[in-house]
Amino acid sequence: MSQTKYIFVTGGVTSSLGKGIIAASLAKLLQARGYRTTIQKLDPYINVDPGTLNPYEHGECYVTHDGAETDLDLGHYERFLNVRTSQANNVTTGRIYQSVIEKERRGEFLGKTVQVVPHITNEIKERIQILGKSGDYDIVITEIGGTVGDIESLPYIEAVRQLLWELGENNGIVIHLTLVPFLSAAGELKTKPTQHSVKTLMESGIKADILVCRTEHEISDDIKKKLALFCNVKQEAVIQSIDASTIYDVPILMRQEGLDNVALEKLALPNALEPNLEQWNQFLNKHKNPKHQVTIGLIGKYVELQDSYKSILESFIHAGAANEVKVDVRSIHSEHLTPDNVNEKLVGLDGILVAPGFGERGIEGKIKAVQYARENNIPFLGICLGMQMAVIEFARNVLGLDGANSTEMDEKTTHPVISLMEEQKLVTDMGGTMRLGAWDCVLKKDSLVHKVYGNTEIAERHRHRFEFNDDYKTQMEEAGLLATGLNPKTGLVEVIEVPSHPWFVGVQYHPEYRSTVANPHPLFVGFVKAVLAQKQQQTNASLA
Ligand code: GLN
Repeated sequence: MSQTKYIFVTGGVTSSLGKGIIAASLAKLLQARGYRTTIQKLDPYINVDPGTLNPYEHGECYVTHDGAETDLDLGHYERFLNVRTSQANNVTTGRIYQSVIEKERRGEFLGKTVQVVPHITNEIKERIQILGKSGDYDIVITEIGGTVGDIESLPYIEAVRQLLWELGENNGIVIHLTLVPFLSAAGELKTKPTQHSVKTLMESGIKADILVCRTEHEISDDIKKKLALFCNVKQEAVIQSIDASTIYDVPILMRQEGLDNVALEKLALPNALEPNLEQWNQFLNKHKNPKHQVTIGLIGKYVELQDSYKSILESFIHAGAANEVKVDVRSIHSEHLTPDNVNEKLVGLDGILVAPGFGERGIEGKIKAVQYARENNIPFLGICLGMQMAVIEFARNVLGLDGANSTEMDEKTTHPVISLMEEQKLVTDMGGTMRLGAWDCVLKKDSLVHKVYGNTEIAERHRHRFEFNDDYKTQMEEAGLLATGLNPKTGLVEVIEVPSHPWFVGVQYHPEYRSTVANPHPLFVGFVKAVLAQKQQQTNASLA
């Protein structure tokens, strides 16, 4: 296919309608028909990237293989498509302005007045087309963050309008995602908000080709007809998106509604072949019909907001399906864990995961949770800060190094078992100054992680500043905490484990960013497997 085709996804009426899931579901269906598809997210905020955002603001910050700190929707894209995203897949207003201002400083505008139109809109158009021009994709789906009518999204909408004109008919289409609310007092679904938001889009010169209507109740043919008539789309282009029990059902629901058919037709692409969703359906079947159940505690400090640990929660879904286990994740606030209540709060957990994080808040609770898992032989996985807490716990309680800490929490600690790399010590900026993206790691032969991965050479994604302090390595190893994964170039410790424990692993990287439906992450699969085995062993022992 020579010409890359573009699908733009806009949102109306309210935020949080799940544009990312609709975009990922459509992409999945197109991919399952053999089209090379990718998804891009345009975020209208002024932060250059979400790396400096508190998870309470915007949920998890997702990290790509090439080290971009991005919106969590990119995680959905990768989990659905099993195709890597990159720096080019997430664009923010901050990034656009930064680049335009840098060009202005370099004199690239030749003395012209630099304006939103055309300079900002041109920059947006260029960024949208980077993926298409790479030649790697037949179809690029571009999701525009925010809601139509927002001041912030105006330049994006204008850029899309221009681009649609430039691309010409059948080369670019617009899907508008809206809400069709149910008024219980009237007992009716209401179409007016959708009509208004389509009208707002029209005022900006964009005609929606397809409407995807989020709803809690079935949308009747009569209502579809009404929406079609008043919003100027064909009736088959009014797609119902009813609440689903799992996001992984959405591609199947969109298939039933014919979203992929309509999109391909409007793009003048062949749509006769059925999508091949065999693997997807197998996963769904296992996910929905588990044979066993385990409870895993997720110890973190952002637990009030589910989106903060999105990739971890999804990784448990993938690993659960792979093991035919329902993983019941119990979120436990690390700030509320104290030496007095830790037994009571963690009792009954079959496995414990200590989550990534930044800053001092809640770390003592995390350290207590590690100790509880280690002393009670409960399968344990520590991710990033969670791994660092495992090292600190071991230093304090096994090596007897009182006050051992990370220099992130206590710069003057007498035992800095976690500390800054030399080259990081002079860094003062906060944004983009971490060890980011994929780094190679070599696993020690015959270690637990070697068995789990079935391989000794891996590459995993990072997002952190602080590191295991090598000065303590020998001491730790002699006492039973082994460094079983090292960066082959720098020697930095990436994995620790405690072989005297049934399953105790800490990783400096983030395995959760790499888990997908097609490729559940081996560490999560191995962890869930160990949790189940231990649970079954205990049940058998108590029955004997
Ligand atoms: N705060 C720790 C560091 O910067 C861990 C980061 C994380 O858990 N992602 O090293």
